[in-house]
Amino acid sequence: MINIIKPTGQEKELALFRGNDSFGSGSYKAPRGTRNGKPRYHNGMDYLAPVGSAVFCIKAGMVTKIGLPYSEGSLRYVQVTDDNGYKLRYFYVQPTVKVGDKLEADSFIGIAQNLDLKYEGMSKYNHIHFEIMDFTSRYVNPAFYIKDK
Ligand SMILES: [Zn+2]
Repeated sequence: MINIIKPTGQEKELALFRGNDSFGSGSYKAPRGTRNGKPRYHNGMDYLAPVGSAVFCIKAGMVTKIGLPYSEGSLRYVQVTDDNGYKLRYFYVQPTVKVGDKLEADSFIGIAQNLDLKYEGMSKYNHIHFEIMDFTSRYVNPAFYIKDK
């Protein structure tokens, strides 16, 4: 469990790991079918987050990108690069920060967005996706990184 989400008024029930559900799995490296004959995997971890939940970064760094997870639509991600060049990426977050902002650990970075905008019927499993890339843009298991934050 990480201190990444604080649903309003429910500070104790933080960051519930999404785990397996009927839409697939929120675990790191869970299988995600194939593309062009190659197996695909889930490259991060998902945390249940009711729409409007406050989202906080787990580590200090600088905002280096406000990205689009898909080519269209209103969903966004916030990328924070730490001192080691690791990119900590928080998906489906309406940002309250901008590129160039320097953040402390536990800084407020945005609000959990509504995944029904992309996946109909998802509201029960509304979540943020959290992933980490190292400085060579290889995915890292967030669970290991979180332990020694
Ligand atoms: Zn995910």
